Amino acid sequence: MSVLIVGSTALDSIKTPKAENPRLLGGSASHAAVAASFFGPVNMVGVVGDDFPRRYIQLYERHQIDLEGLQRVPGKTFHWSGEYELNMNNRRTLLTELGVFETFNPQLPKSYTSSPFVLLANIAPSLQEHVLNQMRKPKFVVADTMDLWLNIALPDLLKLIKRLDGFVLNDSEAQMLTKEENLFPALKKIHQLGPKYVIIKKGSHGSILSSPGGLFLCPAYPLPKVVDPTGAGDSFVGGMMGFLAASKGGIDKNIRRAMVYGSVVASYCCEGFGLQRTDRVTRAQVEQRMRELTQLTKFA
Ligand code: AMP
Repeated sequence: MSVLIVGSTALDSIKTPKAENPRLLGGSASHAAVAASFFGPVNMVGVVGDDFPRRYIQLYERHQIDLEGLQRVPGKTFHWSGEYELNMNNRRTLLTELGVFETFNPQLPKSYTSSPFVLLANIAPSLQEHVLNQMRKPKFVVADTMDLWLNIALPDLLKLIKRLDGFVLNDSEAQMLTKEENLFPALKKIHQLGPKYVIIKKGSHGSILSSPGGLFLCPAYPLPKVVDPTGAGDSFVGGMMGFLAASKGGIDKNIRRAMVYGSVVASYCCEGFGLQRTDRVTRAQVEQRMRELTQLTKFA
């Protein structure tokens, strides 16, 4: 089954203590779509300007991402720039130029409206909801977000959360949203807002799922060297949704395994700038890290 992904399609300029790389292919939808493409068909919705390099379109095409929903319009592509501190965990946004996102009005191609799996990757919650409004009876709808929307668009976000099956956010965002320091009462409070499946990402420490099937502690793949973690969260949720869409059986049966696949794809993302490493990874390499993570977490 296909997964529909909407989110940002961006040019990212990224600075780490070791290097600086301008105008890489980035954006929440780009990272999530490439991650999901390891497992099955992906329909992507986004917008780029006339400065968007042809080689980035070719990258999407190499991963068989359907681009009928990618609008190409006159103007500048969304440009985001961030800088990492020495520990590679703390990040500062240096610049956000909305460009063609300012007037983006996502219109789904008709064939996309029946996608059973929908990932509303990080973008303004009003746009996420606008896409959701065009869907016909999706089976499983998940959204990701960021601190910016908690700060400037909380009413829109709360309205959206009510309609979700799954909500994904990181630990500091969960604390911000619920005013709870401890993640377990935070998970409870987020369920009360609507979603049955809540996932809290904890960066290099993995993630926690709270669901009808109970709690699951999902490991992160241990990486000795992180080159650039930009897009790791998007890769995690994209990989998870891609695997779920490709799997037989219900969500509860597959979601734990899907999260571990998400962790593996996210680990590859961190090993290169932007999408440079993920672009070259094979499904066999994904399976190899799955086996390693299985070994690393087995104790019975
Ligand atoms: P992550 O590292 O998973 O938090 O995702 C980083 C990605 O989010 C980058 O590729 C950025 O292009 C994208 N991004 C940054 N700010 C925004 C924003 N305000 N709206 C949508 N996407 C954004």
